[in-house]
Amino acid sequence: AEAAGGGDKEAVRAYFNSTGFERWRKIYGSATDGVNRVQLDIRDGHAQTVAATLSMLRDSPVPLAGATVCDAGCGTGSLAIPLAAEGASVLASDISAAMVAEAQRQAQAALAAQPTGSAFDMPRFEVRDLESLEGRYDIVVCLDVLIHYPREEAQKMIRHLASLAGKRLLLSFAPKTFYFDFLKRVGELFPGPSKATRAYLHSERDIEDALRQAGWRVTNRGFISTQFYFAKLFEAVPIAGSP
Ligand code: SAM
Repeated sequence: AEAAGGGDKEAVRAYFNSTGFERWRKIYGSATDGVNRVQLDIRDGHAQTVAATLSMLRDSPVPLAGATVCDAGCGTGSLAIPLAAEGASVLASDISAAMVAEAQRQAQAALAAQPTGSAFDMPRFEVRDLESLEGRYDIVVCLDVLIHYPREEAQKMIRHLASLAGKRLLLSFAPKTFYFDFLKRVGELFPGPSKATRAYLHSERDIEDALRQAGWRVTNRGFISTQFYFAKLFEAVPIAGSP
């Protein structure tokens, strides 16, 4: 398969700046006008993934307030904004300029809606792909992005994300065990032949292997499923003694 760093990536970027932007902004939004049943169901599933991520991070011994967080592939800011509101210092980046602009707009609105005295620091927003992320963060989070990466590219990306993380790495992905359910239920959202909308599901084993190769182990697992949405959520920590 062509690498996500090649033609696929350009197709994904173009998609999330156009049709994909409109579609996913609607799914991740709160308006109900013009949103169909499938989209509402995916909205619900994704919201559960965000909530589960936040609760794993709140329960972890690494305090969110003051932690540096990299939200890789931030979309419209569904996770980056609540993290910033909890006092984390957030870098939110996405390959799509349209997504980043929308996330920024939503963050400003959220900040403006805060009661006086509870203002938070705005996330730092950047238009950049996952491959070009650099630096070190206490926590790296990457939700529902690996679906755009073929198997080997996904494993390579996990090693890259792990290299940016000091204390926690949280990843969500569509699990391969639900391949046929997935095709049957959301096949039309991910029609396949188009590089931009092809969906790559991953086995838990592959994701764990990549984490282990990077010196990380999974300490916490979540599984979110609604009628049209499936995601596994892994929280990983560095294996003691690993670089
Ligand atoms: N993480 C967000 C969330 O859960 O709300 C957004 C998930 S959305 C399904 C996938 C996002 O990944 C899109 O915003 C898309 O632009 C972004 N994306 C896809 N490939 C990327 C890449 N190579 N680098 C950075 N972002 C990418």
